[in-house]
Amino acid sequence: MFIKLWMDRNRAEKERNARNYPRIENPGSVSSLTVLPLIDFKTSFPEAKTEPGVSYLVTAGNFKVLMDVGYNAKREHPSPLMSNMKLFGVNLAEINALFISHLHLDHLGGSKDQRKHTFSLSNGPVDFPPIPVYSPLPVKPSSMNFNPGSEIHVSLDPVELAPGVYGLGSIPRALYLMGYTEEQALAVNVVGKGLVLIIGCGHQTVERVIQRAEQLFDLPIYGIIGGLHFPVHGGRIMIGPVNIQAIVGSDRMPWNGINENDVYRAIRAIEDANAKIVSLSAHDSSDWAIDQFKKAFGPAYQDLLVGTPIEI
Ligand SMILES: [Zn+2]
Ligand SMILES: [Zn+2]
Repeated sequence: MFIKLWMDRNRAEKERNARNYPRIENPGSVSSLTVLPLIDFKTSFPEAKTEPGVSYLVTAGNFKVLMDVGYNAKREHPSPLMSNMKLFGVNLAEINALFISHLHLDHLGGSKDQRKHTFSLSNGPVDFPPIPVYSPLPVKPSSMNFNPGSEIHVSLDPVELAPGVYGLGSIPRALYLMGYTEEQALAVNVVGKGLVLIIGCGHQTVERVIQRAEQLFDLPIYGIIGGLHFPVHGGRIMIGPVNIQAIVGSDRMPWNGINENDVYRAIRAIEDANAKIVSLSAHDSSDWAIDQFKKAFGPAYQDLLVGTPIEI
């Protein structure tokens, strides 16, 4: 196991160093941005479904991106994602693109999808619109959600989804047990404010996401929203006393897993970037980590809750 991790770490480092992208000159922008969490671990709506997974509806101007499709751990139909979409009045037909951050079960719609490199919005037929799908690695809709009209854009490189809406390109990291992982984040340029970075699990580390955004754009970083993977002093997937997320989410051996210092380092990087809005997903971070963020960012911190839009 150690040898495998060590080899994956070397490979990830080599890949990261090799990926130098030119600046995106004259980037587009949008006048407004709303991030509506459709799947995450917490909500203030008793009727809403929650789970340790991610699906966010990102409305940038009038362009709508669905980022990831949740976990659906119990293989339900309708899935928690579909029932929350109905509850919050979101129609699949209004979505312009699907952006997949990385190929982990809590973002693809389940463990079967992770195994088969597919994504599913529910464990039954779904009227998935023929929209472009952006993924760092090859993926296809599961047969139940199949729409032959969907174009799948597979790329590790930065990509423009629409004017002002960008995939930052994938950043690899080695993870214990989960292996070599490629993950991409979204960046939206909001006019007069700057870039809002929307992150899935945050395996690539927020430090490197910020670094990539600064490499690609000559724009301030206005906001950081999403998962950063800090299951420190507790996690959302426990098997008895074992905190699964802490073991599988680190590029170190399990006895030396994710710790307080990782959280403090991320907070410092976000402070250095001078972000004005910070919102940490509870799907892969503990209440302890969320408390550290609340203390550090004060009024700039917003809770990330299913059904509560974060408006920029
Ligand atoms: Zn995740
Ligand atoms: Zn993940």
